[in-house]
Amino acid sequence: MSTRSPGLRYTAQGLGDRIHLISLSYEISRSKGEEVTLHLAKNHVDGRKKTSFLEILALFPKDFVEVRFHDYEAKGESDWRNYLKSIGVDAQSFAYRDYPGWLEAPSDFDVSPYLLDRHLITPSCSHFLELPEKFITAQWDSSGIDRQLSEIAIGHIENRYQNNGYQIVHVGGQSKDQMLRECLGCSAVAIYKSTFFAGVDSGYLHLALQIKEPPQIHFYSERNRYWSHHAFRTIKMGCVLNYNSDNLNWFEFVYLKLRYNSPRLLKLVHLVKKLVGVEKHETHD
Ligand SMILES: [Zn+2]
Repeated sequence: MSTRSPGLRYTAQGLGDRIHLISLSYEISRSKGEEVTLHLAKNHVDGRKKTSFLEILALFPKDFVEVRFHDYEAKGESDWRNYLKSIGVDAQSFAYRDYPGWLEAPSDFDVSPYLLDRHLITPSCSHFLELPEKFITAQWDSSGIDRQLSEIAIGHIENRYQNNGYQIVHVGGQSKDQMLRECLGCSAVAIYKSTFFAGVDSGYLHLALQIKEPPQIHFYSERNRYWSHHAFRTIKMGCVLNYNSDNLNWFEFVYLKLRYNSPRLLKLVHLVKKLVGVEKHETHD
């Protein structure tokens, strides 16, 4: 279940969710020296999601992560777990205890330590991809409106990179290059070859985290944006916050962290928002 939206089933809705789940399985596998199987129910892989999971998996070295699709609809945390138990899978539930969600339920183990020091991957793709000599990769089109920056803010940020001699190569939906819009492998290669990756809390940030050293990743957000646990962890890992913009000072960051790290305060905020009718939830974590 979602730890932020009441009653919402977590189904790896966004590309970032799916990349993150494979990354997480990969990191656990590397740490434990055992293959990790990611079990997915029918409602985790509807539409294009099955193909998407396999496309992501293909970017990783073999024999660390296996993905198993089940012809079963998971109705919730315990239902899904009971189903897996009934077919002989001793599934464990996990949480991110470094930045718990305000609806966090008790769980078996904490996965946050596995995410800090990544075993980086070297992606490749068989497509021909033409890239500039000196460039950065960027993604600004997050599916969550609350994570996006204004056109003006993005313009300022990109100008500063350009003034320093970098061309901007967008990855994902906003790219001018068809391969970078449609082939995840090509985007991964572009991210790998770029000097920096710049972006908001979105799908390709999760890919960049598995490909680049943290100082080469420039994460952008503002004080009034939605901050996920991924956003805080990205900074904890050593990625650079707002490298080419000065929208957030140190005190504001401390305030944001305090707000997120105080479950009681957060619950109160949600309660007040609900009472005045402005409570809204994103459809994925
Ligand atoms: Zn490709």
